[in-house]
Amino acid sequence: MRLILLGPPGAGKGTQAVKITQKYDVPHISTGDIFRKNIKEGTQLGKKAKEYMDKGLLVPDELVVAIVEDRLKEADCKDGFLLDGFPRTVNQAECLDKVLDNMNTSLDRVINIKVDKGILVGRAVGRRICRDCGAAYHVEFNKSKVEGVCDVCGGELYQRNDDNEETVSKRIEVYLNETSPLIDYYFTKNLLADIDGEKHIDTVFEDIVLALGSEN
Ligand code: ADP
Ligand code: AMP
Repeated sequence: MRLILLGPPGAGKGTQAVKITQKYDVPHISTGDIFRKNIKEGTQLGKKAKEYMDKGLLVPDELVVAIVEDRLKEADCKDGFLLDGFPRTVNQAECLDKVLDNMNTSLDRVINIKVDKGILVGRAVGRRICRDCGAAYHVEFNKSKVEGVCDVCGGELYQRNDDNEETVSKRIEVYLNETSPLIDYYFTKNLLADIDGEKHIDTVFEDIVLALGSEN
C-alpha cells in the first residue's frame, strides 16, 4: 500500500503512523524524523534544515524532494510506504507524482486527519519524544508509564525544540497557507479519506483501518 498521512501539526500523524506501519508492514517515512536525525548527527543537511524548523517554517522544497526520492527508491519501499509530513506544498505533491510516475507506480490513498485548530497547540506543546526510538507521548493524553521514560525502549523523553506555543502557532499558520491546499489536490484525484482525529487514539486508528478496508 502506498499511503500519505496528511494533517496539521499535532493532528496525530506520527502516532497513527506507528500503528499503520505495524499492521500493514510498510516503512514509515517521516521527513521531520529524517531532518531531526540529521540535526542530531550534525550533518550539513541538518544544519540547513534546523534554521527553518526552529522558526516553524518549511524547509525548501528542493532539499525535501531529493531526500524523499532517494528514500522511495530503497528496496523496502518496493511494495509500499507510508509518507508522514510529506508532501507539504503543492509543488512537493507534483514532484512526488512525477517520481512515482517514473517508478511506474502511484498512490493508493491519502489519509487526512482532521483536528480543530484550537486543540492542536495543546497537543504539540504537551508532546514528548523518546531520544532513542522516537516514540511519541503526551503529558496528559498519552502518558508514558514512568514520567520522562520511554515505555518501548527505556530512553529519555524530551520536548522538541519547535514544540513551544509560538513556533507551533507559526507551524499551524504555515500548514493552513501552504499545506491545506493539498486536501483539494488529492480530493480531485479521488484519493482522499477524511478521518476525525479528535477521537481517542485507538478509535482514530480503527477509523483509518476501515477507510483502508478495500485497499489491501
Ligand atoms: P503529528 O505527527 O501529526 O504532529 P503526533 O502524532 O506527534 O502528531 O501527536 C501530537 C501529540 O498529540 C502527541 O503528544 C500525541 O501523543 C498526542 N495525540 C495524538 N493523537 C491523539 C489523540 N487522538 N488524542 C489525544 N492526543 C493525541
Ligand atoms: P514534523 O516532524 O512533520 O512536525 O516536521 C517538523 C518540521 O520539519 C517542519 O515544521 C518543517 O520545518 C520540517 N519539515 C518536515 N517535513 C517537511 C516537508 N515535507 N517540507 C518542508 N519542511 C518539512
